[in-house]
Amino acid sequence: MSELRELYQEVILDHNKNPRNFREMTPHSHHATGHNPLCGDKLELYLKIENGMIEDISFIGSGCAISTSSASLMTQFLKGKSIKDTRKYFECFHDLVTGKPLSDNDLEDLGKLAVFGGVQEFPARVKCAILSWHTLINALETTNETAKTE
Ligand code: ZN
Repeated sequence: MSELRELYQEVILDHNKNPRNFREMTPHSHHATGHNPLCGDKLELYLKIENGMIEDISFIGSGCAISTSSASLMTQFLKGKSIKDTRKYFECFHDLVTGKPLSDNDLEDLGKLAVFGGVQEFPARVKCAILSWHTLINALETTNETAKTE
């Protein structure tokens, strides 16, 4: 178990040090800002969605290791996925970090995102881990306009 924990920590530290898809995106079709005042995490999330699929996804921002690595892993995970599946993954990830039991299938679907299962023991960290996901849902629900080039 402690070996697993170390492996998880390595993944989180790696993505914090070297966040994937860390850039502004122009043009984009969807965008939202996320803020977790409890910890000071801030992020801007950008998406390019075509035909119900996430063609591209990126973020910028500053925050703790958990929020940065969670956003990094999320963008890596969601690229090429459909919006429909994305909502399902959000539910699974939410259950994972809040300590609700997940089926083996759901856990398998989450892949590397399972590293965040450990945060359920640290309630203050749950908001850090899920910030990028809430920002994603906001982006999907609030901005349905066509690509902008600002
Ligand atoms: Zn945080």
